[in-house]
Amino acid sequence: MVQAMAELRWNIMLGEWVIVTPNRATRPFQDEKRPCPFCPGQPETKGDWEVLTLKNRYAALQPDDHPVRLDSELVIGTSAHGYCKVIIESREHDRQIEMMDRAQLEKVFREYIRVFNDLEAKEG
Ligand SMILES: [Zn+2]
Repeated sequence: MVQAMAELRWNIMLGEWVIVTPNRATRPFQDEKRPCPFCPGQPETKGDWEVLTLKNRYAALQPDDHPVRLDSELVIGTSAHGYCKVIIESREHDRQIEMMDRAQLEKVFREYIRVFNDLEAKEG
């Protein structure tokens, strides 16, 4: 699948950067007819896990994007690149983090640290 490039644009009204990317528009929306892709037992969530990190198939950012030229002088922006992951924080992934016990919270934070360290090693 060809990925369109993302841009960072300065939102002058909000005073913050926003990611503009067409990739997110292609992601499916959840409805009652489809099983939740993040529930245990789905194609990407099989096996025994307590915290699971997946590749984001509809990532807003890609690691290999290149600079883009913006046509408008009114838009303040720049190219954007990066990594997007999906971290499923428990097998009951609709449970809010404040409802998790200490043991599960430790697993979640250890996974975030592992993912961040892995991405830092990639970026150098
Ligand atoms: Zn689910």
